[in-house]
Amino acid sequence: MKTTADIVIIGGGVIGTSILFNLGRLGVTDTLLLEKDVLGSGSTGRSQAICRMHYSNPVTAKMAWKSLSVFTHFTEMVGGESGFVETGYLVVVKEEDRGGLERNVAMLCQLGIDTMQVTANDLRDIAPMVSVREDEVMAWEPQSGYADPYMVTTSYGAGAKEMGAEIVLRNPATEIEVSGGRVTAVVTADGRVETPVAVVAAGPWSKMVLAKTGVDVPLVPVRHQVASLTRPVDKLPLHPTVGDIAQSFSFRPDGSALTMMGFGDEEEVDLETYNQGVDMDVMADALGRLERRIPAMSDAYFRGGWSGLFTTTPDWHPILDAVPGIDGLYCAVGFSGHGFKLSPMIGVTMAELIVEGASSTVDISPLRFSRFQEGELLESSYRYRVLA
Ligand SMILES: Cc1cc2nc3c(=O)[nH]c(=O)nc-3n(C[C@H](O)[C@H](O)[C@H](O)COP(=O)(O)OP(=O)(O)OC[C@H]3O[C@@H](n4cnc5c(N)ncnc54)[C@H](O)[C@@H]3O)c2cc1C
Repeated sequence: MKTTADIVIIGGGVIGTSILFNLGRLGVTDTLLLEKDVLGSGSTGRSQAICRMHYSNPVTAKMAWKSLSVFTHFTEMVGGESGFVETGYLVVVKEEDRGGLERNVAMLCQLGIDTMQVTANDLRDIAPMVSVREDEVMAWEPQSGYADPYMVTTSYGAGAKEMGAEIVLRNPATEIEVSGGRVTAVVTADGRVETPVAVVAAGPWSKMVLAKTGVDVPLVPVRHQVASLTRPVDKLPLHPTVGDIAQSFSFRPDGSALTMMGFGDEEEVDLETYNQGVDMDVMADALGRLERRIPAMSDAYFRGGWSGLFTTTPDWHPILDAVPGIDGLYCAVGFSGHGFKLSPMIGVTMAELIVEGASSTVDISPLRFSRFQEGELLESSYRYRVLA
């Protein structure tokens, strides 16, 4: 491992590797990424990896839209594969959320995002297997889908290494040294690396990493469950990805014969001891909701599942910023259920912030560190905050 670097990144999930790659693209290659386990072993490897644009705020909608074109042109733009599959994305809300959905669709269309409100009649052409009630309201995104989080993360890592970056696995950062108000080094289990810049991208562990520098960041780990279901492909060869706000869960196809369903109660958990499996009673309830949405799924069966962590902030939006009070310390943390689909643009904008002093591709100032003290929290049009 090198003993000096221009920039050290802590965390080898999709966020850390995307930042590492994009620093290389801006010509900064004397970089080191530290990962305590292996690439993608945190929230990234457990992600449903749904890529949709339906957001309540322009900053995340723009990032998701620009990121989508990276996922769909990944080999040319990054190298390797993203595993992106276009399925279309349907968002379904109750009548009481009609105003929020209409506002969101108008805002998204103004940004040039390919989306539209649709009726039950339209669904007969778009997604005839989906059943909706008269009091439900829908929007459709034809270009959305899902990708492969492990392939994206390792491709970013490989691309960064080709440009000169170093990635060290199974070597946790144990301390960020600060002297005279600036970062001077990152200490690891295997030795010390002198550096003027440290970037914390440690997912759910970020609060602990930052606490060692005396910085308190409002992050809460929340458990989210995923079930893999064997689809009755004879009756249901395919279905779109659905953000079912009306029933507080989501699902997408997973290859040609499986369906992946995400659900949970947003319960705060301890990140080292939480139950990483699936609660069968909660899963059975979610399966009932899925059958109401796609009746043909009544013949699906449970194949297995897991739980992972959303790292939430008070407004369920990330913090992308320099850490106030310590020169050279940056953080890209608090992605809740959004981090995968935004990861290409998080890498681009964080690299711009670090190298050029401000992000130009998308203005990330609404995601600044100080917004919680300033009372400038972002708002969601819906109560189901993961679809913020
Ligand atoms: C069940 C589930 C479903 C999801 N579904 C979606 C979805 O459909 N769409 C979407 O966009 N997002 C989704 N997300 C969210 C998305 O996956 C995350 O926001 C994203 O993966 C976060 O990436 P990260 O790199 O910040 O964190 P992580 O992937 O957790 O990476 C952090 C890394 O830091 C390492 N680390 C920690 N401490 C240290 C240390 N001291 N030194 C060195 N390394 C350290 C960890 O080992 C880990 O590998 C989902 C998340 C979960 C859990």
